[in-house]
Amino acid sequence: MIQKYIAKELRDFAINIGIAKRKKRTKPICRSVPAIEMKELPKTVTPEFCNISVNEECFFKCKMCFKWQPDKFIPESAEKTTTEDIKKFIKGLRSVVGPGFLINFAGGETLLRKDMFELIRYATDLGFETNLASNGWLITKDVAKKMIDSGLGSINFSLDGSTPEMHDFMRGKKGSFDRLMNAIENLVEYMEEKEIGKMQFRIAAQAVVTGLNIHDMPDLIRFVDNHPDILSIKFNVVMEPNNTGPNPNWYKEDHKELWPQDEKIVNKVFDEIIELKKAGSKVPDRLFQLEAYRNYFKNPEKFVKSGPCNFDRSINLSSTGDMFLCFNFANIGNIRDISFEEAWDSEKADKIRKEIVRCQHNCHFLINCNLVEEKPQAEKKQII
Ligand code: SF4
Ligand code: SF4
Repeated sequence: MIQKYIAKELRDFAINIGIAKRKKRTKPICRSVPAIEMKELPKTVTPEFCNISVNEECFFKCKMCFKWQPDKFIPESAEKTTTEDIKKFIKGLRSVVGPGFLINFAGGETLLRKDMFELIRYATDLGFETNLASNGWLITKDVAKKMIDSGLGSINFSLDGSTPEMHDFMRGKKGSFDRLMNAIENLVEYMEEKEIGKMQFRIAAQAVVTGLNIHDMPDLIRFVDNHPDILSIKFNVVMEPNNTGPNPNWYKEDHKELWPQDEKIVNKVFDEIIELKKAGSKVPDRLFQLEAYRNYFKNPEKFVKSGPCNFDRSINLSSTGDMFLCFNFANIGNIRDISFEEAWDSEKADKIRKEIVRCQHNCHFLINCNLVEEKPQAEKKQII
C-alpha cells in the first residue's frame, strides 16, 4: 500500500503543465546530454511512466495518508535503496527511453532524503525531465538554491485548502500553509537571481479532494488563480489512505469521513470547478477527468476501466528497490539483484503485462493516474 500515491498520473501531469513541450532553459542548468547506448528491447512495450519512491518517512499527519505511522507493509529492517541502487535504475531506464522522459520522485517527504539533489542531478545529466513531490516544509533559502541548481524541472506541492486553517487541518501540521508559501518565495527569489523563467522551473500545486475539503475547492482555484507563482492546481480524488487497509469498503467504514456524503455538494462543486476551468482558471485537469472524479464520488463501485489497462507501460521503483508495473501484481525484480533492462524485458514482466492488459479490477488507482479519455468511467461487470 505504499503504492497508493506512488502512481500519480505522471503522463497527465507532464502534459497538463506542459513539460512535454517545454522549451530549453535560456540559462542551461543541466549539462549537455551524454550519448547513451540505446538497447533494443525484443518486446514491443517501452516504458511511458516512471515513478521512483525515494522513501516512506514523513512528519506531517495528513488526513488522507498515514505514512507518519510505522509502516504496515515494509518491515523496519527492510533494506532501503541506496544512492547507487537508484542511480543504477535510472541509468538502466535511460538505456531504453529517449531524452526528455519524465521521472517523478515521490515519497514520504522526498526532501528527507539526503541524496535527493544528487539523484536529480544524475537523472538530469542523463537527459531526463524530473518532477519532485513535496509538502514544502523543508524548503529554506539554501534548499531552494540546491533544488534549482540540481536541474529539477518542476515541483509539485500538495495544497489542500485555500486558507491556512483548511490546509493545516488537512495536512495535520500547524503552520504548513505559511511554510509552503515561504518555500515558494524562496524558490522564486533564487529563480529571479538566476534569471530562470516560470516556465523553465515550474511550481505547481495538487489537491486531494475529500469529504473534508471538497466545499473549499472552488476557493482554492481562485486562490491559485490569484497567486503569481503557482502555475496550476491539479486535482486528485481521495483513495484508500496510504499505510492502511486494504479494505474495499474503506470509504464506507474505516475512513468514511474522507468520503463526500452529499451528492448535491459533489455536483455543485464539480459544476463550479468545470465552470472555472472553462473560464480560464489554472486547472489543468481535462474535462473528462473532472467528470470521472464526479462519477467516482457518486459511484465508487463502478469505476472499472473498459479498455485495456495501461499500467503495462508503467514502471515504479519502491523505496526498497522492488520494481513494479502495477502494485497489485508481483514485482519484476529488485534493482539490487537485476538491472532494470533485464527486469523490464524478462518473461516474468511479460507475463504480468499480459495479466495487466486483461485486468478487470474495479481499480481506484486509475482514477488519478493513467486515465485515458475513451472510457473514463465504464459500467462494466465488476469482477473483484
Ligand atoms: S500525504 Fe505527503 S505530506 Fe502527507 S503524510 Fe503522506 S507523505 Fe506526508
Ligand atoms: S486495472 Fe488492474 S492492472 Fe490496472 S492499475 Fe488497476 S489493478 Fe493494476
